[in-house]
Amino acid sequence: MQGYILKITPLKEEDLIVKVLTPNAIHTLYRFYGARHSTINLGYKIDFEIEYTLGNMPKLRRITHLGYSWLKILPKALLWQQFITLLASHLEGIERIDPFYFELLQKMAKKLTKQDAKRVLVESYIELLRFEGRLHDSFECFVCEAPIQENPVLVRAFLSAHGSCIPKRSFDKKKIAYLMRSGDGQFLEDEEIEALWQIVQEGL
Ligand SMILES: [Zn+2]
Repeated sequence: MQGYILKITPLKEEDLIVKVLTPNAIHTLYRFYGARHSTINLGYKIDFEIEYTLGNMPKLRRITHLGYSWLKILPKALLWQQFITLLASHLEGIERIDPFYFELLQKMAKKLTKQDAKRVLVESYIELLRFEGRLHDSFECFVCEAPIQENPVLVRAFLSAHGSCIPKRSFDKKKIAYLMRSGDGQFLEDEEIEALWQIVQEGL
């Protein structure tokens, strides 16, 4: 089966506990250290098998790394790992999962080949918020609940607020409306994408 490595927890003698996101489940698996094992890393897409044994944590076996060309571009690979870590925290404690999350990572990995990493991450986060029913695109202030006429301030989960209610950086309302409606950030400057990515890093 195939999955993405969401989290790696080192144990004694280089054994690991590895969380792998597959289309329908997040598996928590034990991996013994051994010279013949292929290297694994956070965010890698792998082909693998699970060995079930009575009373013990299932084991991660027969790992093959299904690489992406952009993994060699360090800044891209690091941003991908940052997003994977945010996703792992977001999905903490969940075992059965909707295929949406696996498919989202599939799409992102493909887009990263050609597109700017931060744009891919911001646009994908919009998709995640929409899927989870958390995309608030009506520009109503989450503090005072009144409509926002001016450019909105955005906070965690891209909730919007009046500049007078939350004194933070505001964003161009038209561009953000387009981003939220279409999931497309083409009208946003790099500097705006950077500011949105900073918000994403506060947590999904
Ligand atoms: Zn307000």
